[in-house]
Amino acid sequence: MDEQQNIAKQYDPGQVEDRLYKKWMDEGYFHAVPDKNKKPFTIVIPPPNITGQLHMGHALDNTLQDILIRTKRMQGYSALWLPGTDHASIATEAKIVDAMAKEGISKDMLGREKFLEKAWEWKKVYGGRIVEQLKKLGSSCDWERERFTMDEGLSKAVQEVFLKLYDKGLIYKGERITNWCPKCNTSISDIEVEYEEQAGNFWHIKYPVKDSDEYVIIATTRPETLLGDTAVAVNPEDERYTHLVGKTLILPLVNKEIPVIADSYVDKEFGTGCVKITPAHDPNDYEVGLRHNLPQIRIMDDNAIMNDNAGQYKGMDRYEARKKMVEDLDKLGLLVKIEPHTHNVGTCQRCRTVVEPLISKQWYVRMKPLAEPAIDVVRDGTIKFVPERFSKIYFNWMENIQDWCISRQLWWGHRIPAYYCQECGHLIVQGTAPDTCSKCGSKRIEQDPDTLDTWFSSALWPFSTLGWPEKTEDLEYFYPTDVLVTGYDIIFFWVARMIFSGMEHMKQEPFKYVFIHGIVRDSQGRKMSKSLGNGIDPLEVIAQYGTDALRFALTIGNSPGNDLRFSPEKVESARNFANKVWNASRFVLMNFDEDLDFSKVDKKKFSIADKWIMSRINTVTKEVTENIEKFELGLGLQKVYDFIWEEFCDWYIEMVKPKLYDRESEGRLEAQYVLNFVLGNAMKLLHPYMPFVTEEIYTHLINDGQSIMISQWPEYSEELNFVEDEAKMTIIMDAIRSIRNTRAEMNVPPSRKAKIIFVAAGEAEKATLTEGTSFFQRLASAADVTVQLNKEGIPSDAVGTVVHGAEIFIPLDELIDIEKEIERLEKEKKNLEGELKRVIGKLSNEGFVAKAPQKVIDEEKAKQAKYQDMFDKVVERLESLKK
Ligand SMILES: [Zn+2]
Ligand SMILES: [Zn+2]
Repeated sequence: MDEQQNIAKQYDPGQVEDRLYKKWMDEGYFHAVPDKNKKPFTIVIPPPNITGQLHMGHALDNTLQDILIRTKRMQGYSALWLPGTDHASIATEAKIVDAMAKEGISKDMLGREKFLEKAWEWKKVYGGRIVEQLKKLGSSCDWERERFTMDEGLSKAVQEVFLKLYDKGLIYKGERITNWCPKCNTSISDIEVEYEEQAGNFWHIKYPVKDSDEYVIIATTRPETLLGDTAVAVNPEDERYTHLVGKTLILPLVNKEIPVIADSYVDKEFGTGCVKITPAHDPNDYEVGLRHNLPQIRIMDDNAIMNDNAGQYKGMDRYEARKKMVEDLDKLGLLVKIEPHTHNVGTCQRCRTVVEPLISKQWYVRMKPLAEPAIDVVRDGTIKFVPERFSKIYFNWMENIQDWCISRQLWWGHRIPAYYCQECGHLIVQGTAPDTCSKCGSKRIEQDPDTLDTWFSSALWPFSTLGWPEKTEDLEYFYPTDVLVTGYDIIFFWVARMIFSGMEHMKQEPFKYVFIHGIVRDSQGRKMSKSLGNGIDPLEVIAQYGTDALRFALTIGNSPGNDLRFSPEKVESARNFANKVWNASRFVLMNFDEDLDFSKVDKKKFSIADKWIMSRINTVTKEVTENIEKFELGLGLQKVYDFIWEEFCDWYIEMVKPKLYDRESEGRLEAQYVLNFVLGNAMKLLHPYMPFVTEEIYTHLINDGQSIMISQWPEYSEELNFVEDEAKMTIIMDAIRSIRNTRAEMNVPPSRKAKIIFVAAGEAEKATLTEGTSFFQRLASAADVTVQLNKEGIPSDAVGTVVHGAEIFIPLDELIDIEKEIERLEKEKKNLEGELKRVIGKLSNEGFVAKAPQKVIDEEKAKQAKYQDMFDKVVERLESLKK
């Protein structure tokens, strides 16, 4: 029985967590294999960026996943949590470029090959950091299966998908307008653009009509784009301009002729009703340009420096050119006015540089045909969003989806498997580099320099990580996965793309549930950010309070889809809870007999309290299991917490203490059995949330297993549903609470025992209350307990309260010594008289009232009222006692 008595005095997470994590790893508990006798349950981790450092968002996301996977593992599933990391092309490349810049090296100086060597080197050094941090969080991932989006298998999957979609005509190369970041020097997709309000202007500029004194006025927020204008558009129904449609304007500064066109895209009511059209630098104008067959003139290079088409402004940065052009327009008398205007500006999500829409040649995925099955599979409930409201956001996006620009002008990533003949320009798309051009036989062939959007590979994550395109046993068994846990911020980036990829390549949904969580905010509800300096480092919290405390604080009060407030108080109360559980468990274990033999337990000897607590854990088991099933993880934790803290620790342990203290007591073995059973099950229910403290306690309890991790999840049993005993205990506990309240109100010390008389509502209640006698004596400071069916013999001064099923009376002189109390009250009365006299004296002193600030006078008046009130109460009480 050493195991039971050897439990440490205090719980020290620092001592326990690393040791237990190592034990779990060594025993291979995290590893899942296809097992025909078990049902699979699969979660793939949202792969963190290799540049990543664990922040609260990861901590939340992974805690929720671990709760689900640990529960399912205990429920007997072959539960696989598949981990890995993402190469994060743009984020990683930007970091490496920055680091190189500090050494005075640029990408071009190094060349592609050397740069990639450096990137892999960088990945080797930093890529494992986040993985180690996830381990600190207690994540029970199957690390034997850890994958990386650029490892061999996944790269193969990427290539396979590219070739497949290209052959189907779903990938094409096109010259189109894209969002361009001049700093990152790459195109970025629509959802990588973040809009922010910025102060700017509307510049009102005159465009003269050729051979006429007439002119139109254009209002623009980007006057520099004027250089690329190829038309001015008006609404066909705008009578002000009907006569101008088809006429020619002279483009200021450039002195080029451009037409006035009519297009219903123009809003008559907005601005002057005339809109300049710059097809190469604005997505709307681009569409108008296509409709009217307008030329596309690029006026800037990839760094947003004005190019040859900008004439005298060539070589200037876009903002410099803007300034110069406005000056020149003013000199020419063509600047009508400058109107300050705040507008939404698209910025690069990565670097915050203002995005420049540019025409460029890019690779695209044709989205419409892929979107359809992905919409259907959510529409028909095959994939469910939790909470459901997020499916609306999904539909809205998918139904209005644009083609996906997948090429990036970066080096770190999957290079596009497209080759160009340098002689004849022939394009060859295939898996391996061709030796000769199939058209002209030339050997001068070069691969497309671009890489794929980082989300192209993560879109395949649920099946590429299981071995696709090979037909593996893992893929067969673990796909489709069960739940995807993620934040709402990447529904478009990632979730949607996994869904259409799964439907296209696997012909099956990638997961059944998308469990969406909110973001972690600070205690005031603000977003955690570097600029506010309000971020909390989860690793610091772990170092100070332990992993369990962090996980608790991230889960309690958390409901699907909603943001979460994280406060130090939550972590402290979590740590206190861990300590409470530890201390209670230690008390229980210290009171186990050395020769405990539960095979000798006699079920007939279970007390009402034993049956009540077993019935309660039975119900809690059912509820918590359902909560987890419905992703109500916060609610589930709250129930386990309440049960352990209140019902088990504050009630049940207190109730059985006499049996534990007396070796000869009746039902002692049964109580020890119940303690072991209930505590064991409570630890199991708590384990997914707080894996470490529960494992440490569990190993000290009496059970067959080596580890709580692989123990069996408790199941509801009708046999343990003791309805009657629960109802009886409710009456007894209500009565105890009521008596405690009465005593607290009257300031009665616990040492003063008082006689209690119950008037029961009927015979059944009478029996119950009689059965509870020992509890009243122990837990409600009762001396004699009398239970009767009428009010005979109850003193008229007895203090009475009512609970369901009974009235409770306590004779007053049992609670207080009346003589002494009168004496005490007389003294208090005298004191109050003195205080009152002093305050009244002060307030009737005209000098004081005249000189003192109003605030001081108000304070004195408040004191007077308070003393008067206390005085009245004392007098009233004295009178009632003297009767
Ligand atoms: Zn950028
Ligand atoms: Zn050729």
